[in-house]
Amino acid sequence: MPEESREYELFINGEFVPSDAEERIDVEYPYDGSVWASVPAGTPSDVDRAVASARGAFKSEEWGGLTPSERADALHRIADVLDDYADELAELETRQNGKLIREMSSQMSGLGGWFRYYAGQCQTREGRTIPVENKNGQFHTYVREEPRGVVGAVTPWNSPLLLTTFKLAPALAAGCTFVHKPSSYTPVSALRFAELLHEEAGLPAGVYNVVTGSGSDAGDPLVTHDDVDKVAFTGSTSVGRQISAKAGEALVPASLELGGKSPNVVFPSANLDNVINGVIKGIFAATGQTCLAGSRVFVHEAVADEFIDRFVDRARDIELGDPMDSETEMGPVAFRDQWETDVSYIQTGVEEGATLSFGGEQPDDLPGECFLQPTILTDVENDMTVAQEEIFGPVASVLTFGDETEALELANESQFGLAAGVWTEDMRQAHRFANQIEAGTVWVNEYRTLSYNAPFGGYKDSGLGRENGAEGLEEYLQTKTVWVDLSGEVDDPFKLG
Ligand code: NAP
Repeated sequence: MPEESREYELFINGEFVPSDAEERIDVEYPYDGSVWASVPAGTPSDVDRAVASARGAFKSEEWGGLTPSERADALHRIADVLDDYADELAELETRQNGKLIREMSSQMSGLGGWFRYYAGQCQTREGRTIPVENKNGQFHTYVREEPRGVVGAVTPWNSPLLLTTFKLAPALAAGCTFVHKPSSYTPVSALRFAELLHEEAGLPAGVYNVVTGSGSDAGDPLVTHDDVDKVAFTGSTSVGRQISAKAGEALVPASLELGGKSPNVVFPSANLDNVINGVIKGIFAATGQTCLAGSRVFVHEAVADEFIDRFVDRARDIELGDPMDSETEMGPVAFRDQWETDVSYIQTGVEEGATLSFGGEQPDDLPGECFLQPTILTDVENDMTVAQEEIFGPVASVLTFGDETEALELANESQFGLAAGVWTEDMRQAHRFANQIEAGTVWVNEYRTLSYNAPFGGYKDSGLGRENGAEGLEEYLQTKTVWVDLSGEVDDPFKLG
């Protein structure tokens, strides 16, 4: 850890600039609570400057005037720079949220793939002509895809740059410009990202701007700004609902990637070695702090006892420690408030009748105040709080079922619908289940894997819109239909046609 805390500024119009605010936000390393950086607590007037800069870039020849191939070149340059700086960015990410360096290194070394994929989309996406029958087909009618304009993006703390990239790469491919409000827990990596994109990858000034600050003082002014054309949000369902209401009032499209309480369903035919790894991956990787956490584990009664014994044994062996150590398997919870939320959910689970089969304690041999053992609650019923509410920590709720119909009913009995896992060797059963589960992503005999070309997003209260893949690009485009008369004659002015 550096001995001195570094003071960062906002990144607007291609450079670091001071905020209008004097107040600053400290950034801590969750492993030991040390403060290693601070950022400005941005204000509405900072947001105004950033949006004006993004608007200027959107209209500029340097960005707005680029051809799709020139934008593709810009995205390739970004990808190359991200490859070169992946180690540095991974370390910044781990210092901010305490996620394992091995996880953040793999996330950062993968970011270039998103920009390369969307660079390809710039060059391969083609328009449409429409064979309209009006005036006996005497029209050449075609559809143009145009960028929405200035994007206002707000992101959470759990996978900061990956979730930013899900938005930024397609937005840039579309030709949009971007103002980003990162989480107050993880603002530094976004500032460094912006610096790299402009100074090393040569992005024109104003294309990607970062305003740090709280949700109320910087996030809300951004998503409600008159000159923002598109809102892109990842975070909790409660904040997403508020943002969606305000965007709706302003008639601005908003894509929302929200919370989850995803079922991970184990049938008796499944390979139990794989199941144990997959269930651990689903709920204890990243200390359970992922939107797609497989936090509701449904196990068939025939294999429940054996599953629980083996799940508890493996959880007991999980190596907790410094996230910077490549041997560590689980780091701390990202901050103390989240730790307290996790512990309070565990207490509620026990009060409502669940059995604490493992965990629930802060280990006394580790520093700071954010470590929590991987926790397994069994004897959980589907109407208990721990089976219905998102905890966002290393807490698995284990439930049992008797047959496929019951499993499906229980799994779908949730406000959320982000992801699901199904473990079975019976492929007909796997497909039946995948077809009927209410979730935006389903993994069969795997869990927690993503790709730039595979659409991702939620059913029900887990969100609106999709990121990644061709659908991810469409969020940043709008269509215009152009009718060119070929007849040379305007007929009856009093009829539509
Ligand atoms: P959060 O509390 O909803 O905050 C998300 C972001 O919104 C932060 O930058 C926050 O700023 C900002 N914000 C808060 N109130 C706002 C407002 N009124 N207007 C505009 N912005 C506002 O979520 P979180 O605790 O950071 O992240 C965890 C949540 O994200 C979980 O529910 C998780 O499931 C979800 N998530 C979803 C996905 C997905 O793809 N579906 C991926 C990752 C995480 P400050 O915190 O700085 O004040």
